[in-house]
Amino acid sequence: MKKVDFLIIGGGIAGTTAAEFIRISDSSGSIAIVTEEADRLYSRVMLPHYLRDKIPYERLYVRKPEQYKEKNIELLTNFQVEKIDTKSKIISFSKGDQIQYEKLLIASGGKVNKLKISGSDLFGVTYLRTIKDVKEVKDLMKKAKNGVVIGGGFIGIEYAQSFAHAGLKTTCVVREPNFWSSVVGENSGKLINKILEKNGVEVINNSEVSEFVGKGSLNSIKLKSDKDIPAEIAGVGIGIHMELGHLKDSGLEINKGVLTNEFLETSTQDVWAAGDIAEFNDVLFDKHHLMGNWSNAAAQGKIVGQNLVSGWGSKEREKFETISAYTISIFDGTFTFLGDPATEDTQLIERGSLETGSLGRLHLRNDQIVGASLINLPADRSALTKVIKNRVKISASKEKLKDINFELKNLLSLDNGQ
Ligand SMILES: Cc1cc2nc3c(=O)[nH]c(=O)nc-3n(C[C@H](O)[C@H](O)[C@H](O)COP(=O)(O)OP(=O)(O)OC[C@H]3O[C@@H](n4cnc5c(N)ncnc54)[C@H](O)[C@@H]3O)c2cc1C
Repeated sequence: MKKVDFLIIGGGIAGTTAAEFIRISDSSGSIAIVTEEADRLYSRVMLPHYLRDKIPYERLYVRKPEQYKEKNIELLTNFQVEKIDTKSKIISFSKGDQIQYEKLLIASGGKVNKLKISGSDLFGVTYLRTIKDVKEVKDLMKKAKNGVVIGGGFIGIEYAQSFAHAGLKTTCVVREPNFWSSVVGENSGKLINKILEKNGVEVINNSEVSEFVGKGSLNSIKLKSDKDIPAEIAGVGIGIHMELGHLKDSGLEINKGVLTNEFLETSTQDVWAAGDIAEFNDVLFDKHHLMGNWSNAAAQGKIVGQNLVSGWGSKEREKFETISAYTISIFDGTFTFLGDPATEDTQLIERGSLETGSLGRLHLRNDQIVGASLINLPADRSALTKVIKNRVKISASKEKLKDINFELKNLLSLDNGQ
């Protein structure tokens, strides 16, 4: 049986970064990355940019094959993990092979939620998660005249812009009263609706799809209200989940993802988790949570790579302590998520207004800002990162936060801007 010192499940940004940081500190240990996909590391973040012709296909790949070779990192593609036995330290793959590890990192990310309704296997019903998906979407977009987006989240925003960019008559079907309103709130949701509509996208709120209609290929979608919308392509973006099947019987502690402490160590010796799959102890916000974004996965990959070399439970290991953020474009505007995206047990303060087209929502816990969503407020991002990190108490300045002309960096000054 093949044996490796460092085995990494997942060839995404978390797993690949971890392998590279292992190599920086350990020049001789054997490192293998296994991925169920057929490809080396590519950027999921750039998939929508390729759809909108901003980059060529080759630019999606963010590592060259030589870079794995130079660092002596073995990449095993089309290797789907079926079972993890943490007692014997043996990983079994769906095609029958087995590998024994010394140290194991689980960085297997998330999987898209599929819409299981009549017609969902028709050609033309698409998802956007992998490089394989994006090829199919791009080809379909070239031939289609009408595109329907299902789901009012960030993948929905990416699909809507991509369809509109390709000149398709674009309609979004959103279950909530406004786009993404369950996450960003009513007013920000209204603003996203407004931006999409201003750019020629029709948004149908409070609506659900009941059926994909067609013979072999998609012709239209039927709403629960019975309305039919012509569509040769449907883009479904209804969230992701953590696929935990291969972790069953592994003995690892699991909740929504793989539970880890602040060092990204799981409950089992010599096993770590990082990236989208890790439900980690976030010391900044004093809670365990999943954080599905690229910068978080990259930052965790770096720390966990170093910690694998230091060893499980060693004194040299480092805590993961990063305020992550991501920004996407919404036509010519921007949307940013920062810090803790959860809104339970938080006080929510809105900054700016729907009318001005710039609107932020700040999440406060114990009089400290812990997270934010920002539409067309790019200048707030850097100040807010520092405010969150420094745990600035802002009890007296809450009213000022609502005023878009109040610069958030003032919260950091000696008089605390209060
Ligand atoms: C279209 C799109 C746009 C995005 N845009 C942004 C953005 O603008 N900003 C941002 O911050 N984030 C964005 N994200 C999210 C971001 O891409 C993810 O948070 C990040 O890629 C997660 O990295 P990861 O390494 O944890 O997991 P993944 O990238 O999901 O990698 C998981 C790896 O595990 C492998 N794997 C899974 N199961 C198995 C198994 N059983 N056996 C073997 N291998 C397995 C997969 O093949 C893959 O190689 C976007 C995501 C998508 C899909």
